[in-house]
Amino acid sequence: MISLTTPIQQLTRVGATTASRLRRFDIRTAADLLWNIPRKHEDLSTMYTIDQLAVGMHVTVQATVQSIKKRPLRNRKMTLTEVVVADDTGQLQLVWFNQPYISTTLREHDLLFLSGEVKQGRNGELQLTNPNYEKTTTTSDTMHTGRIVPHYHLTAGLTQKQLRFLIKQVLPLTSSIEDYVPKNIRQRYNLIDLATALEHIHYPENMTDLERARHRLKFDELFLIMLAVESAKTQLTTVQAPKITFDTAATKTFVDALPFTLTASQKKAAWTIISDLSKGNPMNRLLQGDVGSGKTVVAALAILNTCITRLQSVLLAPTDILAKQHYDSFVELFATTECTIAMLTRTTTELAYKNNREQIPKKDLEQAIANGSVQLIIGTHAVLQHNLIYNNLALVVVDEQHRFGVNQRRQLKDMTPDLIPHFLSMTATPIPRSLALTMYGDLSISVLKEKPTNRKPIITKLIHKSNRARAYQAIRTEIAKGNQAFVICPLVEESDKLGVKSVTTELNNLSTNIFPDLRIGMVHGKLKKADKEQVMADFRNKQLDMLVATAVVEVGVDIPDATIMIIEAAERFGLAQLHQFRGRVGRSDKQSYCYLFTSENTRPTNDRLQALVATNNGFELAETDLKLRGPGDVYGYRQSGLPELAIASLSDVQSIESAKEAAETLLQADPQLTNNPLLASQLASRVGQMHFE
Ligand code: ADP
Ligand code: MG
Repeated sequence: MISLTTPIQQLTRVGATTASRLRRFDIRTAADLLWNIPRKHEDLSTMYTIDQLAVGMHVTVQATVQSIKKRPLRNRKMTLTEVVVADDTGQLQLVWFNQPYISTTLREHDLLFLSGEVKQGRNGELQLTNPNYEKTTTTSDTMHTGRIVPHYHLTAGLTQKQLRFLIKQVLPLTSSIEDYVPKNIRQRYNLIDLATALEHIHYPENMTDLERARHRLKFDELFLIMLAVESAKTQLTTVQAPKITFDTAATKTFVDALPFTLTASQKKAAWTIISDLSKGNPMNRLLQGDVGSGKTVVAALAILNTCITRLQSVLLAPTDILAKQHYDSFVELFATTECTIAMLTRTTTELAYKNNREQIPKKDLEQAIANGSVQLIIGTHAVLQHNLIYNNLALVVVDEQHRFGVNQRRQLKDMTPDLIPHFLSMTATPIPRSLALTMYGDLSISVLKEKPTNRKPIITKLIHKSNRARAYQAIRTEIAKGNQAFVICPLVEESDKLGVKSVTTELNNLSTNIFPDLRIGMVHGKLKKADKEQVMADFRNKQLDMLVATAVVEVGVDIPDATIMIIEAAERFGLAQLHQFRGRVGRSDKQSYCYLFTSENTRPTNDRLQALVATNNGFELAETDLKLRGPGDVYGYRQSGLPELAIASLSDVQSIESAKEAAETLLQADPQLTNNPLLASQLASRVGQMHFE
């Protein structure tokens, strides 16, 4: 007897290999199979007679086998199986390539359901190539033909047929699934029961059933997220945070000393943040602003006031390079303040006070953090070490937050048991505001709408590789003016056969063949940290004219004199990533350029890359990406820190709002879910799988 908790290995036709492939999808039990929601469905339920077929149709027919022939294909190690079937209206040819076993599984006179696309054979006859076939007599038993057929996400080695078979096998178990959504909510939002929904999401009888199943499961997915978000929000209002004093005079002095004037958005965001910090409960705010919009200085104003209150701040960066960059700029920004700054990564432990830097042993640094003589700690994940004790952590700033998971955030909270620190995340990912507000729920949001006024739009060009020389000439022109160049390559070493440029070969090529007279450096993830830092420092100090780099410079790196960038094999990167790369230039008042090199000349690639040429605006790019790729794959979505949705869609604002409303109402009546134990346990088990910040 199988049950919902039966391990997949105990199911028919699941051996060790299949089991391990399924585990890659987190499928371990029969129940997990049921929860493996199809990616899409194909409606093959309309039955056709052979005389109704025409080239290009996707059809199901029921027909009888008349003859079977198998033969090797000339000059190739392939077999061809040709089968002729017939119904009352005519004959149809079936062709299978390289599936020799077909000739032994099919017999003359077998009655088959067949589904596939109708093609034209060599002699003009109609043909189905590699069709799905099933030897049953009624479509109530079929899985691949004659019905609405599910399509699943696949991993190497698993086939649709296999998954359909396995899921069909456990489908009767749906009846033992208990519904965790309270009945009144089901009624109010017009939801079918869970057991039926899970049955129909795999093998619906008709499109209406499928729609109802989808509606229910979408609701569930969003409802659980909203429950989690809403409980987190309630929790925040019940805890205390340190109060940070707003020192107007010191803030004004600091702002006046900056080499630029703040934009209106920067002022507004900084003011909102600083006034939040002066309140007794924790701020939880997202600072959103396109690349180069100047988020760092906004954080600096919050940190400055925290330092002045003699409380501690942490600034977390996603990479060593970025941590170092922030450290360097804060040491300078805070040179005239009383703030002691620490740099803490896996390999660096340093202190700076009034622009004097001093390397100190890790133990001493930890001591200084514990006794409160350090006010700002800048670093990478090392800052989250368990044994680190803060004296009075009051503000946590996370740069490019999507690189940090919910666990790290929880860790930091655990390290500050008495008072919960204020939390500020900064991101360039353009999540539409309404959506972010609903999905994050517990986050307040500030947006930097405009870039500093001195910026000129970056001129972006798509360049076929035959026009390389022109771009190289442009690099020469820029460097002659005292500017600097980035060359981005997808790979570290020449490892694949695609001829994609790697950093190492490109460095050789550029420094020997193209620019022997220029000073060129290289940075990638496999370099030792000290080497990485040295190269970045050399580039920043203009000891290098050009930097050949991988995606390690994707986020945050700020080199004001870099005015030109070449991206090799641009088609290999997503729009979001390309936009981030491009944000490494155009960070001063100088005109900057970005050249996208591509050897691919297909329509979709060109359209996608043209989107970058057409706009410098991250939000507009997000919309283009939405149009080109559909809502399932929204721009930057994966990096946004939002949970990955299996069935609901980020663009489905209506469903998101219903789910939010339902969650709020339920939590008001039953804040701890004590009256809804099934729901509470479902929430507990699902929240662990949600990757949201
Ligand atoms: P991002 O939002 O991408 O993190 P940064 O904070 O790194 O941007 O700022 C990009 C560059 O712009 C930095 O060199 C910074 O000093 C500069 N900058 C910030 N604000 C302004 C401003 N209001 N006017 C001119 N330059 C500014
Ligand atoms: Mg930044």
